[in-house]
Amino acid sequence: MKRLIVLLLAAITAFSCLYAQASKNPFTKLGYKKQVVYSSSKGEFDEFHDQESVVEIGSVYFNIKTNKVVGLISEDGKQKNVNPATTAMSVDPKCEKYYWISPYAYCLNNPLKFVDPDGKDARVAITGNAITISSNIYLYGNGATKAVASQMQQSIMTKWNNGSKVSGFDVKFDVNVNLYGGKEKSNPFLISESWNPSNRDNFIEVSSDVKRSYVLGGDEGEWRADGRNGQTLAQDNPAPHEFGHIVGLDDQYTDDGGANKGWENNIMGNSQDGKVEQRNVSDILKDAMKAYNIWSKDENNKGKTFNYEINP
Ligand SMILES: [Zn+2]
Repeated sequence: MKRLIVLLLAAITAFSCLYAQASKNPFTKLGYKKQVVYSSSKGEFDEFHDQESVVEIGSVYFNIKTNKVVGLISEDGKQKNVNPATTAMSVDPKCEKYYWISPYAYCLNNPLKFVDPDGKDARVAITGNAITISSNIYLYGNGATKAVASQMQQSIMTKWNNGSKVSGFDVKFDVNVNLYGGKEKSNPFLISESWNPSNRDNFIEVSSDVKRSYVLGGDEGEWRADGRNGQTLAQDNPAPHEFGHIVGLDDQYTDDGGANKGWENNIMGNSQDGKVEQRNVSDILKDAMKAYNIWSKDENNKGKTFNYEINP
C-alpha cells in the first residue's frame, strides 16, 4: 500500500510538472488567454498577447482584421517622455539573430563588462588612390592567447585583402588583433574603454566554451578559440566572418536553410570556406562613399584625407 501511494504521488507530480510546462502563461489567473503571436527558435521564446488583432497606429487603436478604428489613444496615453531605462528593458531589435541569448538581455546580461554606448567600430580613410579600412580588436577570456590573436589577425588580413577596388580606389584592410591589456587570458571585470562612445576598439571574448561565435552591436561578442570538428583554428577560423559583422555586414545564411541562394561561396554565407567578394567590400563602403562624394565636391578638400567612421 505504501509503495502504491508513493507511486501515485510520483505520477501526480510528474503530470502536474508536464501540465505546468505546457501552459506557461503567467497571466492565466487574470483571465488572459494565451495566443502565441511570435515565437523564435521553435517555442523557446514565445511572445503572447490576448489582443492580437488590435494595434496602435499613430493616435488610434486599429483592428487589423476588420480594418476599423476601434478607439482613440488619449493625449495622456501617449508616452511622450519615455524613461531612459526603457531601452534596457525592451527587446533587442536584432534578437532574432541571437535567439540563444534572451531577447531581453542587454549587453549579454553583463552591463559591467559591456556598455555598448554605440561605439565606433572601424575607420575609413581615403587618400590619393587608396581606401584604408582599419579596425582594432582586443581579445580577452580563457582562449585569448598570443597564438590565437596572431592567427585571427592573419586569417582576417589574408581573406579580406584580396585586391578589391571600389569606385576605382584600391581597398586595403588594416586589422589589428591584440590581447586586452597586453595580457593573455585576461578576465576583466570591467572594460572601461567601452564606456567611451568615441572609442572605436572592439572587445571580443575568446573562449574554449564558445560553441557559436557572434558579434553584438558591431563591437562586442564572443568567438570560439578552436576550429570545429577537430580542425585547427587556421583551418576553421571564425574571425574573417565575424569581422564582416564588425564592419556592418549581415549573415547570408540561416540555421535551417544553410547559405542563402547565391551566397554559398561567400564569407557571409559560408564562414569556413567562403571568400570575400567585391559585393562585401562595396557594401561596407556604401555609406562612406556617399559621404565621400559630397565631401570631394568641395574645392577646399582637394589633396586632403577623407575620414569616416563605420558604426553598424
Ligand atoms: Zn554571422
